Amino acid sequence: MKSSTVAAISTAQGEGGIGVIRISGDEAVKIADKVFKCVGNKCLADLKGYTASFGYVYNGEEKLDEAVALVFKAPHSYTGEDVVEISCHGGLFITKEVLRTVLEAGASPAQAGEFTKRAFLNGKIDLAEAESVMDIIGAKSRSAVRTALVTKDGALSRKINTIKDDLINKAAHLSAWADYPEEDIPEITEDNLENSLNNAEKELTDLLSTYDMGQIVKEGIDTVIAGRPNVGKSTLMNLLTGSDKSIVTEIPGTTRDIIEETVVLGNVILRLSDTAGLRETDNRVEQIGVEKAKKRLQNCGLVLAVFDSSATLNNDDYELIDAIKDVPSIAIINKSDLDKNIDTDYISKNISQIIYISAAQGDGLKDLVEAIEKVVGTNNFNPSEAILSNERQRDSANRALMSVKEAKDALMMGMTFDAVTVSLEEAISSLLELTG
Ligand code: GDP
Repeated sequence: MKSSTVAAISTAQGEGGIGVIRISGDEAVKIADKVFKCVGNKCLADLKGYTASFGYVYNGEEKLDEAVALVFKAPHSYTGEDVVEISCHGGLFITKEVLRTVLEAGASPAQAGEFTKRAFLNGKIDLAEAESVMDIIGAKSRSAVRTALVTKDGALSRKINTIKDDLINKAAHLSAWADYPEEDIPEITEDNLENSLNNAEKELTDLLSTYDMGQIVKEGIDTVIAGRPNVGKSTLMNLLTGSDKSIVTEIPGTTRDIIEETVVLGNVILRLSDTAGLRETDNRVEQIGVEKAKKRLQNCGLVLAVFDSSATLNNDDYELIDAIKDVPSIAIINKSDLDKNIDTDYISKNISQIIYISAAQGDGLKDLVEAIEKVVGTNNFNPSEAILSNERQRDSANRALMSVKEAKDALMMGMTFDAVTVSLEEAISSLLELTG
């Protein structure tokens, strides 16, 4: 079957050293040959796959740019089709001009995601692997890239396929045994079937438990910096973000709204917000800020509760400690450079992680990173294991697990193998959906 040949600018739309125009499809090389003249007058069609050629892009007689053309021959390319990638200079105007010339030479514009879609349709990658390409592109931390690459390399698909193959084997056996009684197919034992179902249940449960961690690694954790005024929240925020976004002053109550910023600390992405200092106040504007901050505490993923080492705990501090008892939190005793007046007994009774820092001097950051990784759980996270990285994958895995449990229940209740087979087939179908 002949596929249409499509082209698009594959690099980001902006100014850069190099811009890549990718052409994919049966006519890719022929079209590229119309616009690209190799130095030495060779045709791209005469080149072997995985070969680069230096030359010029022409629009008719007009020389547009100096470029390198990379030739990939089907099926050994990203899309599985013939592909030519023209790397020209990365200006906004020039890349658009080269693309326009390629389109005039016979290619159609590629839709968003079309190269990856073609890779999927041509069997180069499955759906989970295709989704991981977007995760690699969108990754904000080393861990996020590593987990996405592991999926791209097929770790999740291999795990799903192993579970699926075993279930298919059992379902096929059950169907053959029921449908061809004259063939002398040995009856499957209940133990054997139960073992497979138990195994599938365990594997899927383990996989589903990776989802939350996957989300944290990929999207980061919603983190609130809380504490009464003047303990050093804004100074900490500025230390973590490396900027002066939060207003640091000696007047209590200066941060009235929520300031947000994303930072990568160790292996964790924190979506940080510095909130209004928590204290009793008559100022209406400040009150609104305090109320907002209190609400945020209850539905965030991590609280960095800041206390002033040089001062004794007051009611606002006690209130904060009580409010975050059940939320993952770290107590940060700030201003460790000053004389210590704080009594941390009440804090350590309620918050398991306590660390000492001087936000102003930048001391104690390493301890903070370690404490965060401990509380969030990324210190035990193995990025080379298969994980579920989006809601679609989680939903398919969950439905597969439900069907496996139904099959198990049917078996336990002594229902016919036919009833077990129906649930098995549903589980298989959900697993097939997961990998597309
Ligand atoms: P916030 O109201 O909790 O946001 O507190 P700020 O970050 O605005 O800090 C209040 C005051 O404490 C400022 O004068 C800071 O310079 C000072 N401060 C913050 N962190 C430290 C620290 O680690 N050591 C010392 N000595 N002063 C600090």
